[in-house]
Amino acid sequence: MNGSKDDLESMWESGVFDAHCHPTDIMASVRDIAKMKARVLTVMATRSQDQDMVENAARMYPVDSPQDIAEGTSKYVIPAFGWHPWFSHQMHNVESDASPSAIEHYKSVLVPAPDDMDFLQSLPAPRSLRQFLEQTESRLKAFPFALVGEVGLDRSFRLPQGPSAMTGDTSSKTGGSEEEYTPGSREGRPLTPYRVSIEHQKAILRAQLDLAAKLGRPVSVHSVQAHGVVFDLMQSMWKGHERPSKRERKRNSSAPHAHAAGDGDNDAEKSKRPLPFPPRICMHSYSGPAEALKQFLSPTVPADIYFSFSAAINFSNPSSDKATNVIKAVPDDRILIESDLHCAGETMDSLLREIVLKICEIRGWSLEDGTKQLKANWIRFVFG
Ligand SMILES: [Zn+2]
Repeated sequence: MNGSKDDLESMWESGVFDAHCHPTDIMASVRDIAKMKARVLTVMATRSQDQDMVENAARMYPVDSPQDIAEGTSKYVIPAFGWHPWFSHQMHNVESDASPSAIEHYKSVLVPAPDDMDFLQSLPAPRSLRQFLEQTESRLKAFPFALVGEVGLDRSFRLPQGPSAMTGDTSSKTGGSEEEYTPGSREGRPLTPYRVSIEHQKAILRAQLDLAAKLGRPVSVHSVQAHGVVFDLMQSMWKGHERPSKRERKRNSSAPHAHAAGDGDNDAEKSKRPLPFPPRICMHSYSGPAEALKQFLSPTVPADIYFSFSAAINFSNPSSDKATNVIKAVPDDRILIESDLHCAGETMDSLLREIVLKICEIRGWSLEDGTKQLKANWIRFVFG
């Protein structure tokens, strides 16, 4: 599907909503959001260097109300605050005020435990998870529509070597000069054999999911080779809050003194308390097989789980049958689109156009209907 010029024009007019991107990785590109065709960017924070930048981007493109975004003609940024699994080793989970020695900490969270002192000394002083959660909570409160993200688990990621391992010129990567890049990312450095232990990653993820639950915020989740572990972790949070299965609903409605859920003082009391799990979760650039969708979409799962797809990750190779099968299997109202790009501007727009067209083609939607559906999905995911 290519979409006629008029169709594409009305697609942008109706509104294209990027559910996951990183324009603050090239902070100078944030001013180009004003010139973009996409109406809304959901901008992720990932590490120490970009939390303030995401906040600044959100202040440049503020959102007054959900209505504002649904009907607005301006450009908007919805911020997401969180700590990405690729940086989870930089955080320590020690409750006491005395932080652990950096070397001790890194030896305990990296696998295999490094004994290369040059490498260990190149790593930043670990920061406190508890302090980060406090800061993130106040940011989330300052932005009532903000999400928690980007958080998650990654089993394939390995740490890059220290900055001293940088050789030569890395500017060719984007055509820009090196200082345009927000520091802290891999920056073309070679990889070490070290991974962050899955237990440590889980602790950092769980704490952030708890925060999202406490404030009732949606979450954008990164999961690479870890869908089962992510699901198990989420399931442990909603244990005891499952929705009744079809069979149970049938049984309840035919019981002689059926007591419908939701009435009675007890239930009203319960509904005031925050749930122990985030209400809405987006599995971003979902890379799992179609089979694995079943557990996330089971009618007993009490959180609404969305799946977002990007042209860059899901359709980067020509044989993208897996992504096609997954997109066919996700219900209409749970599909989101994203660019996942590190730079705002024309390329971001064209990646968004590409994935909208791709999804419409796979689902057999007209561009008009598809745009409306994707817009409604994003609004429901972010605002509830
Ligand atoms: Zn991302």
